[in-house]
Amino acid sequence: MILKDDEFGEVIVRKNSLSRNIKFTISTSGRLSMSVPAHTSEFLAKRFLNSNRATIKEKLPVKNPETQRARDYQKKILAKKAREYLPYRLDYYANLYGYSYSKCRLTHANTRWGSCSSNRTISLNIGLMKVPETLRDYVILHELAHLNHMDHSKAFWAEVGLHDKNYKTHEKKLKQFSPGL
Ligand SMILES: [Zn+2]
Repeated sequence: MILKDDEFGEVIVRKNSLSRNIKFTISTSGRLSMSVPAHTSEFLAKRFLNSNRATIKEKLPVKNPETQRARDYQKKILAKKAREYLPYRLDYYANLYGYSYSKCRLTHANTRWGSCSSNRTISLNIGLMKVPETLRDYVILHELAHLNHMDHSKAFWAEVGLHDKNYKTHEKKLKQFSPGL
């Protein structure tokens, strides 16, 4: 359920059968998010929101509705760019170096640039479209190398190094960027 609030913009209400009381957090989009017991009505949720308004303003960095909308828009653009680029780039390097993965998934997690699962699915963060191409390629080569080494062992890094000689610099530079929006 989503509440429209003049002050906080869209407020996400998550029903949680395990929770006994109301908890406020900030979602990755910068929206206010409320976790409420399963049978909480919209009326009750609004009442809790109103009675906690002062505390929320004091403690939680809610983004204003305009910022929320701007971020949604930015994410949409980024996702579109990512769809038109990342799967093809991944495929290009996989073919070039003889890797076979099962599928490419695009994500927008806040904490990681990419991952490789044991079923050979490679996930790439749409935020990669914001970083320089060399770093983007590094992430792709890093995840491809995980197809052969599901860890960060010496053998893994040696394999990354085969395809990206400057991987150490790239790994360091990547830390200057954040995958989140
Ligand atoms: Zn890794």
